[in-house]
Amino acid sequence: MMKTDSKGIEVVKSAVRNLRAYSLSPDRASVKINQNENPWDAPERIKQETLLRLADRKWSRYPDFIPVELQRRLAEFASWDPEGVLAGNGSNELIQALLMVSVSERKRVLISEPTFALYRQVATVLGGVVLSIQLNPEFQFDVPALLQAIEKTSPDVVILCSPNNPTGCQLSDDDLRNILAASSGLVVIDEAYHEFSEHSVVPLLNEFENLVVLRTFSKAMALAAFRVGYLLGAPSLVAEIRKALLPYNLNAFSQTAAEVAVELYESELQPLVKAIIAERDMLFAELSQIKGLSPVSSSANFMIVKSAIGPAKVFEELLKRDILIRDVSKYPMLSEYFRFSVGTPEENVKLIAALKEII
Ligand code: PMP
Repeated sequence: MMKTDSKGIEVVKSAVRNLRAYSLSPDRASVKINQNENPWDAPERIKQETLLRLADRKWSRYPDFIPVELQRRLAEFASWDPEGVLAGNGSNELIQALLMVSVSERKRVLISEPTFALYRQVATVLGGVVLSIQLNPEFQFDVPALLQAIEKTSPDVVILCSPNNPTGCQLSDDDLRNILAASSGLVVIDEAYHEFSEHSVVPLLNEFENLVVLRTFSKAMALAAFRVGYLLGAPSLVAEIRKALLPYNLNAFSQTAAEVAVELYESELQPLVKAIIAERDMLFAELSQIKGLSPVSSSANFMIVKSAIGPAKVFEELLKRDILIRDVSKYPMLSEYFRFSVGTPEENVKLIAALKEII
């Protein structure tokens, strides 16, 4: 007999049932530029040092209840108070923990779209009301509209991604100051891509107690496989957010790899970041020359491109050529756009040649 799926499903919140699941195409290709990762693998020195330290550790023992040592190093790395640092299983976990402690039925969460889909997803699951301000037609933050929305609706949480995924636009410190001053609730800046903009809003933590900064090891730090992120904020606020995390949230492997990556950042990872920035600027210039393509300038390690041919077709044609990009045409404002992340120089040459062939 066919099983119907209705029994029990009605207890699921209608806001959740109306939500489209956050998903990613399972396609594979040898040039993988769909997830904004570091195109180079983690440097060999980081891998070897991590493996050495892990070989020395008892695998039968739990990791730290709270990864205090990693948090101490992250504080030093980010120039912030160790009591105001929270390490998590990817910054996704910290977005969830932060919203779990601040969002319940009818709380208001203000975001700017198009952006990373998880903010809307988690806020909605928790029963929050998502208010959204579109980027302006130049794909920059519409700061006057954001300020107006803050004044009118007093959101409990404002979440802005800067540089923004998927558009690469960045919020200036002056605009952020105005947003922070106008907000009575929390203002979260997701800095997942800050290394590629060579800028951080962390210094503003000294001035504003309602600012929270999120960072990740999944992009510039080349450790996406191990799921490490961190949150920076006022110690009293961080102590509250910590309550929503499960104990042992970060496994020993991830903790160790993150510690080593921080120690070796300047010698091993920063040169890769510089190379990615140079390649991004080269790609922008090259793609601007191709008739039928209009790339959008980006402060991150990816960019969106307007295409005379539909993004779904570009995606498919590139996949045939063993290149995997992201079709972002379902995002608001982006029906004519695809996104790619900056690859290695060889991968970027392949991308340009393939796009010239397709367009
Ligand atoms: N924030 C932004 C803006 C992202 O683009 C991503 C990954 N796509 C994340 C957070 C998630 O990072 P993590 O791997 O640390 O969970």
